[in-house]
Amino acid sequence: MKKIDLKKFIRDIPDFPKKGILFKDITTLLQDKDALKTSVDALAKAFAKKGIKYVVGIESRGFIFGTALAYKLGVGFIPVRKKGKLPAKTRSVTYSLEYGTDTLEIHADALKKGDKVVIIDDLLATGGTVGAVVKLVGDSGARIMGVGFVIELAFLNGREKLKGLPIVSLIQY
Ligand code: AMP
Repeated sequence: MKKIDLKKFIRDIPDFPKKGILFKDITTLLQDKDALKTSVDALAKAFAKKGIKYVVGIESRGFIFGTALAYKLGVGFIPVRKKGKLPAKTRSVTYSLEYGTDTLEIHADALKKGDKVVIIDDLLATGGTVGAVVKLVGDSGARIMGVGFVIELAFLNGREKLKGLPIVSLIQY
């Protein structure tokens, strides 16, 4: 397969979901078989040989890349979901948004102390979401071996919230 520029497959949607936000649409990347394969393969290459036991994916676009990555690495997948969606007993974390707060949950029995995991989402913006997931996963005693994104909005300095953790992003703005 020829080398492809993943950035070309990201579609910018101005003022979505609200005015002033430039939404980075990944559906155009997912739709292209070579772009999809290139992005999952690149994440797999970054997180191979680290003894990863689970990929933890963040709802909802983190599920798409996270599950494909887990399949490629030959490991299991654990979903982190918005409040009220997971059926069994959960642990939760609440974090601040621009206006108000949001809550994310993980099944209470999903992770054990020492489990090596990688956390995946589609996009790193301010880092608030993934920072909350780092806390949720870290509180279980699991070891976070890295955090991976397809897109990083570097001008928002989300990395600041992930100090000390290996961060991989495939496309930067
Ligand atoms: P943050 O917590 O600010 O890092 O925001 C990250 C979460 O919000 C991710 O789950 C992204 O899918 C979503 N998100 C934030 N900003 C954008 C954007 N400009 N385009 C697409 N998704 C975004």
